[in-house]
Amino acid sequence: MRYISTRDIASQYSAAQAITQGLAQDGGLLTPYYIPKLPGKALEDIKAMAYQQRAVYIMKMFLEEFSVKELTDFANAAYGPDKFDSPAVAPVHTVDGNTHCLELWHGPTCAFKDMALQMLPHLLSASLVKTEEEKTACILVATSGDTGKGALEGFKDVPRTKILVFYPKDGVSQVQELQMVTQEGGNVGVAAVVGNFDDAQTGVKKLFSDPAVRKELAGQGYFFSSANSINWGRVLPQLVYYISAYCDLIRDEKITPDQPVNICVPTGNFGNILAAYYALEMGLPIKQLICASNRNNVLTDFLHTGTYDRNRTFYNTMSPSMDILISSNLERLLFALTGDPAEVKGYMEQLAGTGRYQVSEKLREKLKKYFKGYSCDDHTTQQTIRAMYNKHGYLIDTHTAVAFSALEQYRNETGDQAPAIVASTASPFKFCSSVLEALGETNIASGLDALDQLSAKTGQPAPAPLAALRGKEIRFTQVVEKDRMVDAVRSLLG
Ligand SMILES: *Cc1c(COP(=O)(O)O)cnc(C)c1O
Repeated sequence: MRYISTRDIASQYSAAQAITQGLAQDGGLLTPYYIPKLPGKALEDIKAMAYQQRAVYIMKMFLEEFSVKELTDFANAAYGPDKFDSPAVAPVHTVDGNTHCLELWHGPTCAFKDMALQMLPHLLSASLVKTEEEKTACILVATSGDTGKGALEGFKDVPRTKILVFYPKDGVSQVQELQMVTQEGGNVGVAAVVGNFDDAQTGVKKLFSDPAVRKELAGQGYFFSSANSINWGRVLPQLVYYISAYCDLIRDEKITPDQPVNICVPTGNFGNILAAYYALEMGLPIKQLICASNRNNVLTDFLHTGTYDRNRTFYNTMSPSMDILISSNLERLLFALTGDPAEVKGYMEQLAGTGRYQVSEKLREKLKKYFKGYSCDDHTTQQTIRAMYNKHGYLIDTHTAVAFSALEQYRNETGDQAPAIVASTASPFKFCSSVLEALGETNIASGLDALDQLSAKTGQPAPAPLAALRGKEIRFTQVVEKDRMVDAVRSLLG
């Protein structure tokens, strides 16, 4: 399988090259040339497998130059019992007859980013060998909260890598910030950026494409790589859990084989829902993809109008991992639906120049066929958490609540009651104060004491990695202006 840039199909890359580079030289996203189809009895076969084997089966279809043995070792290391607190890895919790919640937060940082970021370091290390890269990878990450910790945890002490995470200074939850600034490991760095997530992400992209900085780094034996979801090695492991969830539902006789399902995903950078779209392309019986946004509803508007416009107020919401106005992975979808790199490049140039673009009528029709977009504000997010808890005794976090609200809006609007899989992207304990408030608590403890308060309120224990934050030493306090992010790179590489 060859990989190409979404902005130019003339140059081709191997999977290992795509994973090592992270981003194409022309600024496009490295993407498979085509999406392979699941063979006829694949779902039947996958149904009987453990999650680790499912990952090998599906990833192998995209990674020809990796052997089954290699991928098996990676999957066992990434998704083993020392990392995930559920043997199912990504278990499906049935909320009611036709609503199923795919829990993606059983890993070491309690958010869905672990599903990919526990795998990526293995893929990257092997890719460095396969591409005969001799330099050390300096991985830059911009995070809206969860990617940063997931990447730090995945890459800590991985040989021939250094990792540097930038987070928006006042844009992440207390627990998220503590998770990052207490990170252990000899090859890690963390800096707060004065600005929002888009500032951090733009800053990282600039560092990537700054020839002077690249040269300075090369002189010291480093090259930049990315652990953001622009890296194909991040998207690919995410395909696995949609196919896995579908197979679980067949296995448990909650759906019949080949029965179409709807998939609803709380969306920020568009990586997670893009993976669901690729699963559809592979042949998974998905009827409709439901794209859920918070008050930063640039994608909802885009799906309704065909115009992407980031010129709007940015809101800090209680689902901070979705506080994003530039959804990078949308570019891969535009490419998948048009197959036309020149068209995609045109849209992306307009986005960079004016902050907006309008897609062709033809593309708009295609988008409409696969995707429905809905959004909700913080008030509805909290109402949804409360209703879910009171009605079903099921505790969800703020991001997952945005998705449940979107599903409800979709069902009310269309009357479509087909079985739905809702992606649950974080443990409710990562966003304790908002969740406690939603459950009607008024005196909310601060910092880690809120974990105990939520446990006391619900009778559920806090996940072990969060409880263990207590007593950890704060290792990182650097704050940088958004145009001085290079300073943090220099302090990490010394
Ligand atoms: C990253 C994240 C999202 C958004 O996922 P994308 O792939 O960026 O669309 C949603 N919820 C949580 C908890 C996240 O960490």
